Amino acid sequence: RPARVRKPDWIRVKAPTSKGFNETRKLMRDLNLNTVCEEAACPNIGECWTKKHATVMILGDVCTRACAFCNVKTGMPRKVDTNEPQHVADAAAAMGLEHIVITSVDRDDLADGGASQFVKVIEALRRTTPSTTIEILTPDFRNKHEAAVEAIVTARPDVYNHNLETVPRLYPTIRPGARYYASLRLLEMVKRLDPSIFTKSGIMLGLGEERLEVHQVMDDMRSADVDFLTMGQYLQPTPRHAKVIDFVTPKAFDAYAAIARAKGFLQVASSPLTRSSYHAGEDFAEMRAA
Ligand code: SF4
Ligand code: SF4
Repeated sequence: RPARVRKPDWIRVKAPTSKGFNETRKLMRDLNLNTVCEEAACPNIGECWTKKHATVMILGDVCTRACAFCNVKTGMPRKVDTNEPQHVADAAAAMGLEHIVITSVDRDDLADGGASQFVKVIEALRRTTPSTTIEILTPDFRNKHEAAVEAIVTARPDVYNHNLETVPRLYPTIRPGARYYASLRLLEMVKRLDPSIFTKSGIMLGLGEERLEVHQVMDDMRSADVDFLTMGQYLQPTPRHAKVIDFVTPKAFDAYAAIARAKGFLQVASSPLTRSSYHAGEDFAEMRAA
């Protein structure tokens, strides 16, 4: 396999310069909020922020883990910001969001892994902007996951997302702090506790996974009753991060999507630039209308 692969034409990123982009950036700065759009150096930031769609990253911008694919800083996180839940709700209200995606860094240093902050954010959103649908993308909460998931499910987000990120064989190098089956059990637990919450998960492609391994992940997700699936191309954020092994063609993404639909996912997003929050609002609204 080649050590370095050139970016193909289908990975094209528009420069983020619109008025909407600048307004979104200002709002996030004013409310002291972090976004995964910026921290993960997401290639869709120009498009999403122009449309005023951003994914807020709560609990700070420093993570206690160091996944090989992720651009978020690693280290000792700062104190939890108690104003953050209301600031998230204020941002959603100011942007007039129909759907919001909230994620966080991993906070293995906190007794509850940060679950109570997710709950407070959901409560603040329900109070401030009750018609906004809420999608949360949580960490695995390591060995605190039972209490954490129970607390969050009780707050009733509309969509509970937790990404498997890659196939199990690649976990030791790509997602070293996590366990594949623990993440799968977390998704299963959400559905068992409250079947009315939609569950969602995703993987990155291009990290060296084989086709049949991807099919196996889909089967594992379906056996945990996962409703929505996202698949996108992994892009190396800096030379220190895991290398791209291959660029999966748009045709191959389509083929994976067809297989995933046949396996029974309610919704499948699969393309080179798909990210777990890319078009999340549009897709969710479409699915509910269907
Ligand atoms: Fe942000 Fe998600 Fe859009 Fe990327 S795809 S810019 S993370 S909202
Ligand atoms: Fe990045 Fe999440 Fe891994 Fe932290 S746990 S390094 S935020 S992917």
